[in-house]
Order: sequence, then C-alpha cells, then structure tokens
Amino acid sequence: MPVKKIAVYLLLLVLCLCAGCGEQSDVKKSDIVLDTAVTLTARGKDAQAAIDESMARLKNIDNMVNPNVPDSDVSKLAQNAGNGQWVALQPETYKMLAVAQDYARKTNGAFDVTTKPLVDLWGIGTDHAKVPTPAELAEVQKKIGWQKLELDEAKQSARLMQKGMGVDLGGVAKGFAADEVRKIYARHGIKDGLINLGSSSMYALGVNQEGKAWHIGLRHPRKDSSEKMAVLPLKNEALSTSGDYERFFEAGGMRYHHILDPRTGWPAKSGAMSVTIVAADNVEDGGMLTDILSTAVFVLGPEQGARFLSSQEGIEGAITDGRYQLWTTGNMATELLEVSPDFHFWQESGETL
Ligand code: ADP
Ligand code: MG
Repeated sequence: MPVKKIAVYLLLLVLCLCAGCGEQSDVKKSDIVLDTAVTLTARGKDAQAAIDESMARLKNIDNMVNPNVPDSDVSKLAQNAGNGQWVALQPETYKMLAVAQDYARKTNGAFDVTTKPLVDLWGIGTDHAKVPTPAELAEVQKKIGWQKLELDEAKQSARLMQKGMGVDLGGVAKGFAADEVRKIYARHGIKDGLINLGSSSMYALGVNQEGKAWHIGLRHPRKDSSEKMAVLPLKNEALSTSGDYERFFEAGGMRYHHILDPRTGWPAKSGAMSVTIVAADNVEDGGMLTDILSTAVFVLGPEQGARFLSSQEGIEGAITDGRYQLWTTGNMATELLEVSPDFHFWQESGETL
C-alpha cells in the first residue's frame, strides 16, 4: 500500500476514534428537586436529551407530591381529609400510595405514609424542631394510621378518613423518581449512567467512564459526611440508604431523627443507625422498593429488618447498629469493599469476625 494511502487511513482511524471518544464522555447535570440535590450522569449520543427530559420529569413528580404546592395530589388529599370525598390522583401518586400501603401491611405499620401529622409535629429538619409534649403526641396519634387511607384502583382515587390527616411521600418519591429516570434513560438508549437523588436513592447503569462498575461510597453514620462505612460496587442496580444522621436535632444528649416509628410517635429507636438496600435490575419498581424498604427496615430494627429483607426476592441489605455491627442479607457481605475497621459483621453466635 502506498505510504500516502496508509497516512490517509491512519488519519481516518484517528478521526473515528476521536468521534467515538466524544460520544463516550459523561454528560452531567445537577439541580435541587424533591428537596434533594440531584445529579444525573449519562453516557451515549442521546445523553443530553435524556438528562433534560429526566430533570423535567423530576420536577413534574415533585409537583405531585410536594405539600407546599397548593394543588399537588398530597395537598388535595389533606384538604379533603375527613370530608368523605374521593380525590382523583395522577397515576404516579396512586402507584406510590398503592405500593406504600402494600408495605404498610407487610411491615405491620412500621412503614406508614400517613405519618405526616407526626412529621409536622416534630418538625425535624426545620427551624422549629422540638420534642412534643405527651398531650401533643396523643392528639396527633389519633390522626395517623395506614388503615385510614382508602384507595380505589378503578377510579385511581384516594381518601383520608379523618380531618387533620395527611400523607408524606418523603420515604417513597425519590425511589419512584429514580425508576422514572431509569425508564427515560432506556428510551434514549442510555446504557451507562448514574442517577443520584441526594445519595439517598440511586440507580447505577452499566459502567463508569473507566469501564468499571460504579463504586458507591456508603457514609459512616457517626463520622464526617466525607468518611465512608464501606464502598459498594453497583451495576444495573437500585440503592437507597436511610440513616439517623440525615436530619436530626439533639436535646438533652438525645438524638431525635427524621425516621419516625408511627406506632410510638417517636423517632425509631430500633437500634439501627443506617440501612442500605439494593434491588437487582429485574425487580419491578426496584428504586421505589429500596426507598420504602430502607425506611421500613430502619423502623423494624436490625434483627426483624434483616429477617424481613431475606424474604424479599432480588433485594439485599446492610444494616449498621449502635454497637457498630454490620447486619447483611443476600450477598451483601461479600460485595462490600473497604469496610471501615470501626465495624464488624454480626454473627448469630454473638462472636465477631
Ligand atoms: P431520605 O429522605 O433521607 O431518603 P427516608 O427515605 O428514610 O429518608 O425517608 C424518611 C422520610 O419519610 C421522612 O423525612 C418522612 O418524611 C417520612 N417518614 C418518616 N418516618 C416514616 C415512616 N415510618 N413511614 C413512612 N414514611 C416515613
Ligand atoms: Mg429514602
């Protein structure tokens, strides 16, 4: 082959490779949605369009579940509480409520979206957080209970049976939203990317820029936010974490955090400090389930929570308790990397590894 022709071929090869490189770079966008710092990352030629559409979709979901938006579904439900009227809902809100009710039943009310009046009373994460009086707690407890939220699937409607009731989708919506973004990515042919809703709910697709599984740092529950408890490689999996360090206030040496036990009215004292749940790619609504389960298992506590998780197909979890023991289900124990020396794996005998 003449030297000139070889040079032309080489030039073409270099140009093709560069075009390929261009296509492979990550597109990233961050915004505050669903009260959370969201960062979406995607790779592929349609990445920008996928990210723009996903951000719009997240804002649209926010408008359905935000109690500060006067005509959101959750506002309408609260406005009509106790008047007997059915409230027609967006299919998205209906689905979140239906799955939430399913898990309220399965967890005997440990997970309960009607906890809203209790969330408002404690005000954790707001500038008016306080420990309520027993009288205030008793009054508000009359207004919660998942059995007092009725759903009508055919009419995609719901109603709250008592005045003063409300629903709070803070433990559902971010996981639901991660699933929705995942679907948008799929429609745009995105095979690699990271959907990150404030590290609280995530979905990792394919591989990272270096061609490796996405490595997710799990926060150390008692150290600075930059310190990790462990690292978890994720590939085509959904992950949610709930922890007592996310939103809390301290009074009289006690930590009052935002995961409430609807059965007692107090922040859950189950022994858990943090709960991380992972769902495999083939688990329907995997993002939403991990979100619900991370909160539910936190309320149930390490022992009951781990037992419950073991019964859930395609789901595994890691729970840290106050004694720095790590309770794991499924293959989680072998998947966790760089486990902090502060922690040891829980063993039935009570001995540690
Ligand atoms: P994050 O928002 O950090 O992901 P969680 O997923 O654990 O936290 O959800 C906690 C939120 O869910 C609380 O801020 C509150 O809005 C709501 N919530 C609190 N306790 C419960 C509960 N027992 N069942 C359902 N929702 C709850
Ligand atoms: Mg969550």
